[in-house]
Amino acid sequence: MALLPSLAAAEPSGRPNIVFIFADDHALQAISAYNFRGRSLNQTPNIDRIAKEGAIFRNNFCANSICSPSRATVLTGKHSHLNGVTTWEKFDGSQFTFAKALQAAGYRTGIFGKWHLTSEPTGFDEWMVHPGQGSYHNPDFITPQGNRRIPGYATDVTTDLSLDFIKRHKEEGQPFLVMCQYKAPHRTWQPPTGEAGRRALGSFAEPPNLFDTYEGRSKPVARHLMGIDRHMKLDYDLKVPVEKSNEWARMTEIQHEAYHHFYDDENRAFLEANLTGKDLVRWKYQRYLRDYLSCVDSIDSNVGRILACLKESGLDRNTLVVYSSDQGFYLGEHGWFDKRWMYEESFRMPLLIRWPGHIEAGTEVGQLTQNIDFAPTFLAAAGLPVPPEVQGLSLMPLLTKQPVAWRDALYYHYYDGPGEHGVAKHYGVRTDRYKLIRFYADDAWELYDLEKDPEEMHSVYDDPAYTTVRAELTAKLDELKKQYANPILTVADEKKLSAKP
Ligand code: CA
Repeated sequence: MALLPSLAAAEPSGRPNIVFIFADDHALQAISAYNFRGRSLNQTPNIDRIAKEGAIFRNNFCANSICSPSRATVLTGKHSHLNGVTTWEKFDGSQFTFAKALQAAGYRTGIFGKWHLTSEPTGFDEWMVHPGQGSYHNPDFITPQGNRRIPGYATDVTTDLSLDFIKRHKEEGQPFLVMCQYKAPHRTWQPPTGEAGRRALGSFAEPPNLFDTYEGRSKPVARHLMGIDRHMKLDYDLKVPVEKSNEWARMTEIQHEAYHHFYDDENRAFLEANLTGKDLVRWKYQRYLRDYLSCVDSIDSNVGRILACLKESGLDRNTLVVYSSDQGFYLGEHGWFDKRWMYEESFRMPLLIRWPGHIEAGTEVGQLTQNIDFAPTFLAAAGLPVPPEVQGLSLMPLLTKQPVAWRDALYYHYYDGPGEHGVAKHYGVRTDRYKLIRFYADDAWELYDLEKDPEEMHSVYDDPAYTTVRAELTAKLDELKKQYANPILTVADEKKLSAKP
């Protein structure tokens, strides 16, 4: 470790390029470097390389598990109630963002792909972003010069735009920030035409709680509208028949032919089998996982393209490469698809960072980290001050194994319920072992002992053995609300808040 500071000092500018690769709804369970609960669903050799040659964060979480809020938090380093995006509000681009700070300090900045913050990007010299959620096939882009549709598959196209930016700026002598933000693997999991159907149905292990009955937990959980059984649509989501799938109208004839080729025989066999009950859920789960993981395969290949480009151009030595996703996702756990809950699978965010000479290969970070920490980390890496309004902490001490006093708990707040997915608004606190959740419309609480119950199947909130833990976590929750300036409301006020659409 003594070698590291001198290596850092040997870089005259000391300011790294930053390549931020951000997927949409990419769960830890679908990144082989995590081996999360040993499910081994797929292999992601290129994403894994970032961890092998750099660091992997084993306990990284979001502050609010949906797309727009997570993106606003990443840019600002602040919780949702302070950056103004608690649900789908238009992002106020006049506020502080790390991209603006880097740009003001001389960085060339670009963002490509999914943005999903309604207002036009600020703090970027170049931007081409999807309208809203974006599309997989022949994606549309909003640009300062007007709208464009680019033929091809969104993950490839967004990578092409990012690589073009890197190649154009590598000779300038100025450091750059590029945010390469994929639409994939967001619903409706449209694989590239070259990948669809490559894996066999039936090859994905089911989670032990695929047929969760939601007993032993608070009432809001069972009211969900995000079950693979009742809410995942055969046509719109699962391409039975392909002509009714979500993006059919925007695909070309050649793309239609490829999808017919991949899906039609299998769809015919499925319809003939006339599956019901658990057999039907199992089939839907397999089709869902295969499409989702095919989208992930394409991301992983494109991450490989980015790493190869950096290496070939010699930029890899002074470039911070980050891979993350705006939040996690349920891959059948609790019988679900989608996100939103404070339960582990959607609360967790993958985070892998590589910066040779500064981060030792194979670094494992176990501390509790959160997306409020991203902005201060990038500022610190660039040697820039972190403004006092930023609520997160720079991850640099953890990345470089410096001694540092670290937080012992995380705050979470989901504001968008119940909505289309039937997830009640809630907030909570997580420590290394426990999680306390409050669904405030119902005045309902849950407490989980993650060491004994990692899958969160049984709340111990009313268990007398946990009286002390419960009191400590309740106090911790109030402390975090004060720390992050999230008002502590009365039960009556919380009910009023929860009634807001
Ligand atoms: Ca998302």
